[in-house]
Amino acid sequence: MAEIVIENLHKAFGDFTAVKSSSFTIADGEFFMLLGPSGCGKTTTLRMIAGLELPTSGKVYIDGEEVSQKRASQRDIAFVFQMFALYPHMNVYRNIAYPLASQGMARSDIRARVGEVAEMLRITSILKRPVGGLSGGDRQRVALGRAIVRRPKAFMMDEPLGALDAEFRELMAEELRDLHDRIGATTVYVTHDQLEAMQMGDKIVVMNHGVVEQFGTPQEIYDRPATLYVADFIGSPPMNFLAFDGALAPGQASVHLGDCAVAVPPVREGMSGRPLALGVRPEHVRLDDHGRLRGEVFETEYLGTTQIATIETAFGTLKARLPAARRLEIGERVGLSFYAPRLSLFDRHTGRAVRTALTEGEYHG
Ligand code: ATP
Repeated sequence: MAEIVIENLHKAFGDFTAVKSSSFTIADGEFFMLLGPSGCGKTTTLRMIAGLELPTSGKVYIDGEEVSQKRASQRDIAFVFQMFALYPHMNVYRNIAYPLASQGMARSDIRARVGEVAEMLRITSILKRPVGGLSGGDRQRVALGRAIVRRPKAFMMDEPLGALDAEFRELMAEELRDLHDRIGATTVYVTHDQLEAMQMGDKIVVMNHGVVEQFGTPQEIYDRPATLYVADFIGSPPMNFLAFDGALAPGQASVHLGDCAVAVPPVREGMSGRPLALGVRPEHVRLDDHGRLRGEVFETEYLGTTQIATIETAFGTLKARLPAARRLEIGERVGLSFYAPRLSLFDRHTGRAVRTALTEGEYHG
């Protein structure tokens, strides 16, 4: 059990800065996702938490104790890698028992601990099998077993499901989350897959070029993206952006795209003339015969219950998630309206959100 606090963590490799002044707190027992594209600094951050890499500056606290310069072996953390290297000459039992045996634990205690872990992972029936012939999923379970058996303070997982095929990945993701809920140990999990992060995480940090773009629950990050980058990275299809220039006054609850007034959540702070972007999730676009904003259907993608329509407007291309039953012709002119409470506004110059979807409090109060 452990709370992990990261304070202004910074890592440079020569002239290259991989992680820039990152700060966030991982609560005890949380399933915490480090999310971002390849090379954004996720693994380096994870390795600094685990003590496999020392920070250039900044601090790491585990359970209130500063461990920034302590080695991995002094941090009581277990690592689960993508390339889960099992000992090929040992059977499943001995692979799981290995960390306890190397600590010199008594055989009867080892037997009890391995038995308990095997039951939890539902691999009791394969304990005597060599690891060589195991399926990908079973190998992953054995690797997890070896990590869990030590009862460490926290688990670090670096794309642990990356090597599995799509169907199996989903199953293992569910199993992993279920296992976490039963054990309740703090888990930090690296992934570049936004769906995996949204499905599994209690909290997500979105990283970009070594910088923490946003930190929050999956819903906060989806509904109220702090930056254009996050809005574009999260969601499939991602948020649409309609570009326009304008000024904003405090309390203003609509913006003008050309001569079309679009209702938005009331703006908190005023801004003088700026390049702005209206952010609209595909599910918040409606076809509306009375909509002043017009567009032309460019293509449609049928998805069963819904379809994704790509619509060209004077302010940019939109993707709209619409009922599959609505027939659309390519080239058809359509009127559009948006679901105002869920719209965002961004400053295109800084990339930061100036207004996001209504909060629960604003919505109901
Ligand atoms: P990936 O999923 O591709 O591993 P990541 O977000 O985990 O991406 P990191 O592995 O943390 O990214 O790497 C961040 C950047 O730091 C990359 O550009 C990488 O090349 C660089 N980097 C990582 N380790 C080292 C090192 N030991 N020496 C030099 N550069 C490094």
